[in-house]
Amino acid sequence: MPRYLRPTSQSEALAALAQSKLTVLAGGTDYYPSKVGKPLADDILDVSAIASLRGVRDAGDHWRIGATTTWSDLISADLPPVFDGLKAAAREIGGVQIQNAGTIGGNLCNASPAADGVPPLLALDARVEIADLGGSANVALPDFILGNRRTLLRQDQLLTAILIPKPAFTARSRFAKLGARRYLVVSIVMAAATLEVDAGRVRVARVAVGAASAVAQRLPLLEAALIGQDCDANLGEQVQAGHLLPLAPIDDVRASREYRLDGSLALVRRVLADLGALA
Ligand SMILES: Cc1cc2nc3c(=O)[nH]c(=O)nc-3n(C[C@H](O)[C@H](O)[C@H](O)COP(=O)(O)OP(=O)(O)OC[C@H]3O[C@@H](n4cnc5c(N)ncnc54)[C@H](O)[C@@H]3O)c2cc1C
Repeated sequence: MPRYLRPTSQSEALAALAQSKLTVLAGGTDYYPSKVGKPLADDILDVSAIASLRGVRDAGDHWRIGATTTWSDLISADLPPVFDGLKAAAREIGGVQIQNAGTIGGNLCNASPAADGVPPLLALDARVEIADLGGSANVALPDFILGNRRTLLRQDQLLTAILIPKPAFTARSRFAKLGARRYLVVSIVMAAATLEVDAGRVRVARVAVGAASAVAQRLPLLEAALIGQDCDANLGEQVQAGHLLPLAPIDDVRASREYRLDGSLALVRRVLADLGALA
C-alpha cells in the first residue's frame, strides 16, 4: 500500500523527505489529472496542512507568498496594485473549484510551459524560497524553472515561498491570456507586464510571455526600449516583432508557431497599452 503522510509542520515534512522518496502534494490539481488511468502507487507527502506555508504577508522590503497559498487566497488578499497582474492570472486559472484547491507553489513546481502563474511572477521579479533539513535559500524564478516540467528542486527539498521585492516607484501590472475559448482553457499564449513609473515616465519595465517557449521568458530588448518612455496609451506601439527574440514557440494541437508569435505580439501590445492608459 502506498503511504500518505500529512504533517502539520515544515520540519516534520522536511524530515520525512530526507528519509524516503515521497511525492509532494499540495492542491493535487496537476498531480491527480496526470494519474488518470494509472495506479496511484506513489508515497505521498501532502503539505496542505502546514499552516506556515500558506498566506501572503508584508515582510518589510518584500512580500512573502507561502507556497501553498491558493489562487483564491491570492484573489481575496489585500494587496497593492502591483499585484493586479498576478490576481488577473489567478482569476483565469481553471474555475473556482480549481482556484480553491490549486496553489501558486504547485503551479511553479509543475513547471508547465503553459503555467499562467509564471509570466506575472517573472514580471514581479519574483524569487523562490527552497528549504531542506539544512536550512533555506532563495533563487531568482528564472533560475528555478529549468525547462518543460523541470525545476531546480531536489527530492529532499520543498518550495516554501515566493518572494516579491517592493517596487521603488509607483508600480502597476497587467496580465492577458489567449486561449481557444474565453474561460477554462489552457493558454495558447499569455503575457504579463509590470511598469514602475515616475513623473510620467517609465523607470522600470518587466515584460514576460508564457507558452511561447519551454519556459516563460522575459523580453529584455523590449524592457530596455521602454525605459524613459512617456507612460501613456501609446506605449503599446513601442513593441516591435524583434523584441520577441527570446521566444521559441512550437507548433502543437493548440496553435501553430506563427499564431503564437502573432498572439504574443498582440498581447504584449495590449498589456502595455492598458498600463499606459492608467497613468
Ligand atoms: C480543470 C483544470 C483547469 C486548470 N486550469 C489551469 C489554468 O488555466 N492555468 C494554469 O496555469 N493551470 C491550470 N491548471 C493546473 C493547476 O490547477 C495549477 O497548475 C495549480 O496551480 C497546481 O497547484 P496544485 O497545488 O494543485 O499542485 P499539485 O498538483 O499538488 O502539485 C503539482 C506539482 O508540484 C509539486 N509540488 C507542489 N507543491 C510543492 C511544494 N511546495 N514543494 C515542492 N513540490 C511541490 C508536486 O509534487 C507536483 O509535481 C488546471 C488544472 C485543472 C485540473
